[in-house]
Amino acid sequence: MADGRGACRRAVDEALAAWAGLGYYARARNLHACAVRVAGDHDGRFPDSEEALLRLPGVGPYTAAAVAAIAFNRPCAAVDGNVERVMTRLHAIAAPVRAAKPLIRRKTEEMLPADRAGDYAQALMDLGATVCTPRAPACGACPLAQDCAARAADAAGAYPVKEKKAAKPKRRGAIFILRRGEAAMVTRRPQKGLFGGMTAFPATPLTRDTAPEDWLDFAPCAAGWRALPEPVVHVFTHFALQATVFVARTRRTEPTGPDCRWAARGNLDKEGLPTLMRKAAARAGLIEGD
Ligand code: SF4
Repeated sequence: MADGRGACRRAVDEALAAWAGLGYYARARNLHACAVRVAGDHDGRFPDSEEALLRLPGVGPYTAAAVAAIAFNRPCAAVDGNVERVMTRLHAIAAPVRAAKPLIRRKTEEMLPADRAGDYAQALMDLGATVCTPRAPACGACPLAQDCAARAADAAGAYPVKEKKAAKPKRRGAIFILRRGEAAMVTRRPQKGLFGGMTAFPATPLTRDTAPEDWLDFAPCAAGWRALPEPVVHVFTHFALQATVFVARTRRTEPTGPDCRWAARGNLDKEGLPTLMRKAAARAGLIEGD
C-alpha cells in the first residue's frame, strides 16, 4: 500500500515537473487524478457521455461537451470563447458574456444538427478562430453572413459585449533563498493551495499581502538575510504579487524543516520550480533568467 502511494506520489511529481512553467498547476494534478479515475473506474476507457465526463476530475462543462461531441458524436454544445464570439454576433446579444452564457448555450444548442455534433462543434470553433476573429472579422467569407444580426447592423466589433475588468489586487511578500555552498534550500509546498505539492523556496504566505516588517518572521531560519534590491513581480489569475527576494548563506547541513532539503544549484532547472520561483532563482543568480 505504501509502495502504491509512493508510486502515485512520484507520478504526480512527474506530471507537475512536466507542467512546470505553464501555470494553472491544478491542471497537472487533475490530469493525473483523471487518468487514475479512468483507469480505475472505467477500465481505462474514457466515458462517452457528457454527464459521466463531467464527473472526472478537472473536466468542466466545456471540456465534457467538446469531448462528448467531437470524440463520441454526442449531441452536445461545446461553448468556448470562439463560439461565444460567433453566437453573440450572430444574434446581436447585447448582455455582457458572463450574464449571457445561458442564452449563448441555448442558441448554440438550437443550431445543433441531429447527426454531426462533432463536426458542428469543430466548425463553430474554427469559424470563431479563423473568420469571426476578435478584430476585423472576415464577414465576406462567412457562411453565416446572411443570418448575422451584427453584420446586418455593421456592428460586429460591438460584440461580444465586454465586462469592465476590476483591477487585480496587489500583494506583497518575500521569498527566502538560503545557500549552502553550491546548494539552495527548497521545500515542498502544501498539497492544497498555490503551487500545491510543487518544489519551491520558502516564502511568506503568497496569497495574502504581508507587511515588510513581518517578512522575516517567515524565514526558514535565523541567518544574515539580505534583501535583493528589485522585487520580482508575478501576475496570477486573481492578484499581482511583488515578492522581495532575501538571500543568506549558512554552514548548517541539516535542512530547517521536515519538507525542506538541499537542492544542488546545477539541478535547479530540473526541480520543476514554478515560474515565480524561477524568477527568484534568476534574481539571486542561481539560474539563467527565462
Ligand atoms: S458574418 Fe461576420 S460577424 Fe457575423 S458570424 Fe460571420 S464573421 Fe462573425
